Amino acid sequence: MNAFAHGRQVVLGTDGAVHLEAAPPAAVQARDDVLLAPVHLGICGSDVHVLRRAHPFIAPPVVTGHECVARVIATGPDVTSCAPGDLVVVNPLISCGHCERCREGVANQCPNAKVLGFGLPGLARDRVVVAGRFCHRVPEGVAARTAVLTEPLAVGWHAAGRAPGLDRVLIVGGGPVGLAVLLAVRARGAGHVTLVEPVASKRALAAAFGADQVLAPGKLPASRQVDTAFDCVAAPATLASAVAATVPGGTLVVVGVPSGDTSVPLARTQRWEIDIRGTGLYLDRDLDAVLAFLAGPSRPDDITRLITSEYDVERAADAFAATADPEQTKVLISWPDPA
Ligand SMILES: [Zn+2]
Ligand SMILES: [Zn+2]
Repeated sequence: MNAFAHGRQVVLGTDGAVHLEAAPPAAVQARDDVLLAPVHLGICGSDVHVLRRAHPFIAPPVVTGHECVARVIATGPDVTSCAPGDLVVVNPLISCGHCERCREGVANQCPNAKVLGFGLPGLARDRVVVAGRFCHRVPEGVAARTAVLTEPLAVGWHAAGRAPGLDRVLIVGGGPVGLAVLLAVRARGAGHVTLVEPVASKRALAAAFGADQVLAPGKLPASRQVDTAFDCVAAPATLASAVAATVPGGTLVVVGVPSGDTSVPLARTQRWEIDIRGTGLYLDRDLDAVLAFLAGPSRPDDITRLITSEYDVERAADAFAATADPEQTKVLISWPDPA
């Protein structure tokens, strides 16, 4: 029998390597099941953290994958979110749907939630089943290669919604998340936006995506004061510079995943009433807002410049290896589209 009779899955192994392994069978069983064929999958910094055992909560072995656009192959009789043949983006935050936080509309705070590719097996499989309520149909005219950016962009959309004021904004970090925050604050009518990033090619992308001022680390003038700082790195040095640049009464939004508990300049934060806010993942409405943005006129024409390389699933290990290059922004793993 073929070792991959039920298809393949990409596993982040306990040996620190990326493996293609045989996947379990995937078929519609429950009435709300959707059988999907992934088309593109983005690799996220947090996936790489898991592989390197630098993630605060999750360790290998893990079937990876949470940034996914997929073709719908089959649906159970109760599914209303999509139909066979549709392209969908999956919300990988598998919330319980019935706890207090879920009922209040903040499923990202659900204490029972697990995320595909972290606490649950991920989407990097030839065929995968998810419940219909986690599928978001991709609008007409949005290509799969654009739609795969929905999940990382939704992180930025949610983060932007956590800030009370966007007149003057600082974004620390110009990777996919920092650039997503940039696009999101622009879409919300931000005033002046400064972005700090060490890699020149990412600074160029930030300028193309509408940042007013793009600087290398250490170049931020002491006079630059902002209402909201988004720290998309969340290391002690970036937190210090973000708090230093925030006006009295301003807000620091912690977007980056810290590699553990870390220090913040608490004295300035206390004396000058600077609010520190976390932002974790996103809500369904953030994913829908991003899909509408990608289908609309305000999307930059060159938004797929965020994608800097692409590998077939057979080369998933090479795709993960490629992420070590700081010039890379978003690396994709791709499958043939069965449509
Ligand atoms: Zn991600
Ligand atoms: Zn819940």
